[in-house]
Amino acid sequence: MIRPLLDGLRLTLSYFFSKKVTLQYPDEKWDVARRWRGRHVLLKHASGKIKCVACMLCATVCPAECISIEAAAEPDNRKYPEKYTIDLGRCIFCGYCVEVCPKEAIEMSTAYELSEYSREALVLTKEMLLEPPQERYKTEKKKGPALSTEGTRSLLEIVRRPKAEKTKMSVAGG
Ligand code: SF4
Ligand code: SF4
Repeated sequence: MIRPLLDGLRLTLSYFFSKKVTLQYPDEKWDVARRWRGRHVLLKHASGKIKCVACMLCATVCPAECISIEAAAEPDNRKYPEKYTIDLGRCIFCGYCVEVCPKEAIEMSTAYELSEYSREALVLTKEMLLEPPQERYKTEKKKGPALSTEGTRSLLEIVRRPKAEKTKMSVAGG
């Protein structure tokens, strides 16, 4: 009778003096994994031109049908997306759009503070997707660099493995 009680108290006391695992969000933030699939970002060439060529592959492969693209053409016939939207309210963050893109024009950042007060606000336009995600709740006590707003590249260093590495992995996996 007294033994289980003592066992319970011992367990409680052991947790009482052990390292705390609770994170004081938003004062502290998770250092998310490099493979985290967060908010999308459309990338540009060094020249400033958008990398996307409006091939529609991402919209076609998207299982949630949440990507919408309207293509247009430059005078030299190069296609680009006149409009490009992703409805994050429907997105399941599977990453297929990133995997399928032949131009490596879209990536997923580590940004995970994506809540909004309306469904309309979850629809990201091309202009929004070309900007790095903004940190929603600023804090001095970060656990890691995951939600840095220093620039798109630092946010995106997580996502895309080099193609060669992917091929090697799929060959090894049969
Ligand atoms: S992550 Fe998946 S569901 Fe979301 S936009 Fe890309 S393909 Fe669609
Ligand atoms: S993001 Fe990539 S896959 Fe999607 S339309 Fe642009 S080039 Fe094609």
